[in-house]
Amino acid sequence: MPKAKQVPNSVLKRIRHIQAQIARFDFVCSGTLLTRTKVCGKPSCRCATDPEARHGPYYEWSRREEGRLAHSIVSSSEARVLRRAIRNYRAILRLLRNWQDQSIKAIRAGKGPAPKKKSG
Ligand SMILES: [Zn+2]
Repeated sequence: MPKAKQVPNSVLKRIRHIQAQIARFDFVCSGTLLTRTKVCGKPSCRCATDPEARHGPYYEWSRREEGRLAHSIVSSSEARVLRRAIRNYRAILRLLRNWQDQSIKAIRAGKGPAPKKKSG
């Protein structure tokens, strides 16, 4: 970080606020969580004719792992925690973008104002 006296106080205050918000999160996970129901394929099963009788729900978590798309079926209790972790992850991404914006302001402030050209 540039010298504190060069950075506007408002920018430093916003950065401290973002840091405090990020520190409050517990679990973070990327990806998406889908809730699915399935048809088992047995012609005698109720699921074959009644959409309300489909099996499930099943919870499928999809995310990128080392550049590849990965899917796993998780339990309903895992899904509950994952849903929160995914929400946290997205919130932190928004905070990171904001942190970056504030950082750019701080870096530019550290360089000082650009010299004004005289018109005419
Ligand atoms: Zn069935």
